Amino acid sequence: MRNFIIDIGSSFKVGDPCPTGYNDRIAWAQVHMDAGLKQERCGHCSLWFWPHELHPETRSFMASRIKHGPANVKVEYRVCLTCHEKGEK
Ligand SMILES: [Zn+2]
Repeated sequence: MRNFIIDIGSSFKVGDPCPTGYNDRIAWAQVHMDAGLKQERCGHCSLWFWPHELHPETRSFMASRIKHGPANVKVEYRVCLTCHEKGEK
């Protein structure tokens, strides 16, 4: 006799919070990728987040570029909601 595990996936929508189960996380991420979303890095903790998980405010700083000739470039970034609540810049 063989035993099978049948995983009936949950249905997720874009913007739903991240589920805890491994298979649910894959299904949840697939919904976001199918919607054409791309993850972005938090400018403070460097973890990857979906756009709806980042604070809408865009922050920026000026940096010096060395490659391809020296120049000052404006670097724009967003931070995740957790870093924003902690008051991280
Ligand atoms: Zn963060």
